[in-house]
Amino acid sequence: MEGRRMQILALFSFMLITLPAIHGWGTDGHSIVCRIAQSRLSEAAADAVKQLLPKFAEDDLGSVCSWADQVKFRYRWSSALHFLNTPDTCTYQYQRDCKDEEGEKGRCVAGAINNYTSQLLSYNSSASKAEYNLTEALLFLSHFMGDIHQPLHVGFASDKGGNTIDVHWYTRKEVLHHVWDSNIIETAEERFYDSNVDAMIDAIQQNITTEWVDQVKRWETCSLNKTACPDMYDMHLKVSKRPVIGHIKVPQKGQYLKMTIFSPDYQLLTGG
Ligand SMILES: [Zn+2]
Repeated sequence: MEGRRMQILALFSFMLITLPAIHGWGTDGHSIVCRIAQSRLSEAAADAVKQLLPKFAEDDLGSVCSWADQVKFRYRWSSALHFLNTPDTCTYQYQRDCKDEEGEKGRCVAGAINNYTSQLLSYNSSASKAEYNLTEALLFLSHFMGDIHQPLHVGFASDKGGNTIDVHWYTRKEVLHHVWDSNIIETAEERFYDSNVDAMIDAIQQNITTEWVDQVKRWETCSLNKTACPDMYDMHLKVSKRPVIGHIKVPQKGQYLKMTIFSPDYQLLTGG
């Protein structure tokens, strides 16, 4: 039992380190993150995921990765769990920053990942069946792993994670947050992969053994811990050398400028 539990833990830890993150990515982003994650599960974890997925998902975790966005109104308590904000610094601290608008501690995306990871670690224990809805826990965890890797889901409080910053994405007027949720991914799909999402996923996964092989060691270090690694999720200072897919003129000067010019591949992979 303990061995199986550890396998499942390692699995979700790996999901945590390898899949992409606020009300986060659009449907495509979340689906990509979950498909990468599901393809890398251990046998025990893959089996657990299969058992927990609702029937209509037809064993495809990617098809239900936006469920948490769909239930935000039904489960109003859950909307604070899709993101976290820092007090306009690039250094995130779990104790200081993980709270909801009322100041309740632990109610942020990193806290939610901790919570649902712990619930899923009770898979196969008789008590958990009565205590938790592990299907919902799986759908929440796989969604929030995506959210936390959307850089503006770990954003500044003053601009609501880029939601108050107007930009132009090519010919369209958007808010910066939405550019990261959807526009960057859509543009990358069209421009580099002929709008073929499968090809994009393949290309991202190939980087695990090539360009980003050094990163894998870091992710594995996290997976050796028995708990999630929320302090890893300080995305602001990460600068990727991925191909630039667009430049945005940001009216305000500041840290966000740096992150407006790289492509989403790395974030999607780390979410997966
Ligand atoms: Zn979300």
